[in-house]
Amino acid sequence: MKLDRRGFFQVLAAGAAASLPGQSAQASSQEHSPEVSEDRIGMLVDTTVCIGCRKCEFACDQSHQLTGLPLETFESTTAFDRDRRMNADAFTVVNRYKDPDNPQKPTYVKNQCMHCLDPACVSACLVGSLKLKDNGAVTYDAWKCIGCRYCMVACPFEVPAYEYKNPLTPEVRKCDFCYERVTSEGKLPACAEICPPMCLTFGKRSELLKIAHEKIAANPEKYQDKVYGETEVGGTSWLYLAGRDFSKIGFLELDGRPIPELTETIQHNVFKYGIPPLMVYGLLAATMWSIKDHRKHEPGSDAKKKGAAHVDSQN
Ligand code: SF4
Ligand code: SF4
Ligand code: SF4
Repeated sequence: MKLDRRGFFQVLAAGAAASLPGQSAQASSQEHSPEVSEDRIGMLVDTTVCIGCRKCEFACDQSHQLTGLPLETFESTTAFDRDRRMNADAFTVVNRYKDPDNPQKPTYVKNQCMHCLDPACVSACLVGSLKLKDNGAVTYDAWKCIGCRYCMVACPFEVPAYEYKNPLTPEVRKCDFCYERVTSEGKLPACAEICPPMCLTFGKRSELLKIAHEKIAANPEKYQDKVYGETEVGGTSWLYLAGRDFSKIGFLELDGRPIPELTETIQHNVFKYGIPPLMVYGLLAATMWSIKDHRKHEPGSDAKKKGAAHVDSQN
């Protein structure tokens, strides 16, 4: 299958691209459905409960056959010495943020694809390789991918990673919300199943939002009066509760405007005016830069803001 995909790419490079993009853009926009189902899945992350054990990283690694490293590797706390981002071998990473007012109690934040309700990566993909599934998961089909990496530039959370170390058949890599486990096997996502203090609650997004607001109302002294992901970039399937200002624990300040409104405008003009690929990168990058908050590294935090840099996640 991988050789087929490479062959597919070579055919494109040889000249079929002239006719394919128009069809692909059409296919991509057909795949793109920003309708929000009441049944769409979600995950509520309570960062006040997370103990930074990194077992979620281990479970994700195992369930997706990533590095195959043993649990002990993930138990090392030296991973918290630097900011880490997801990469081709790590679909989720946990970062630590020290609290200057309470040095004994840092906050741990698990990162992964947010599974946006209206995903910019899906919108930016010319060939429908990234898909918004009916249950709300955003998945990737390596066979269709032509390696343009527009999804990487378009994602407001800088999630998709590229297999640079695989020169023959590189893939875009990211959390798939354990799509097969959830839909075919009826299991919980691997990270939620293993989490010892159960700070990851899997369920319908609409019900998780209710739970989140009930928790805030019942414990206003414990929680910030905000559910991150409820409105950001039009809403995300992964939702977060926090006991500290979100901006102090690595969350980007993003408005509620869905990014595809912007990326689709760019993509449509690509075909209309034949904009060269390099300029598309520039336009997408400038658009993403303009919507992000470019805060500096917060003093007292172990990690920089989310989306700062892609670095290796292993020790
Ligand atoms: S977080 Fe990024 S990769 Fe994940 S669905 Fe949203 S746009 Fe796509
Ligand atoms: S939902 Fe699945 S793929 Fe995503 S971080 Fe959790 S274990 Fe990994
Ligand atoms: S398994 Fe749960 S408690 Fe442990 S780091 Fe992951 S989210 Fe936090």
